[in-house]
Amino acid sequence: MQQQGFVIWFTGLSGAGKTTISHILEERLRAAGHNVESLDGDVVRTNLSKGLGFSREDRDTNIRRIGFVAHLLARNGVAVICSAISPYRSTRAEVRSLIGDNNFIEVYADCPIEICATRDGKVEMYEKARRGEIKEFTGVSDPYEPPQQPDVHVRTNTETAHESAQHVLDHLAERSLLREPAASRAS
Ligand code: ADP
Repeated sequence: MQQQGFVIWFTGLSGAGKTTISHILEERLRAAGHNVESLDGDVVRTNLSKGLGFSREDRDTNIRRIGFVAHLLARNGVAVICSAISPYRSTRAEVRSLIGDNNFIEVYADCPIEICATRDGKVEMYEKARRGEIKEFTGVSDPYEPPQQPDVHVRTNTETAHESAQHVLDHLAERSLLREPAASRAS
């Protein structure tokens, strides 16, 4: 029997930790025997969504493309991890309904913007956004709509990335989506 695929869908501000937690999850899921693919927002914007900007329309197109590919992969048994800001609630809901409630796990990487703006690799971007040198920057000059009922809510200012990854794994185990009980394995 083919293993069940699913989509772990991160949402959160730039610097909230989506990519960092995704990398840990990718490794843990592989170790548990899943076929894993990651669709990182920044990476997708250099290929699949090259040329798209940050207007609402372009952001939605980017998210729909990621959702479409994730859907194809998940229905073939792959554990898919998507980490894009995905700022709009209704667009995330659209992707959820494409993939199906049973196989879609929305993870809210929650972190105050003042902390995100101090994190490695993010300081300059936030400073430029504040000065208006980068336009349409989520949380500064562009909207972010936090999930009202995420499947998993991780608070990256008060827990480590490994703890956040573990919360996601625990949730997968609860929903019987994990291939083996890797949830308590030390990482
Ligand atoms: P995003 O993908 O959401 O833009 P990144 O994962 O690229 O965020 O960057 C988050 C930065 O914050 C990384 O440099 C990471 O090492 C750091 N960081 C510090 N604490 C945490 C934490 N608890 N969870 C995730 N990332 C953290």
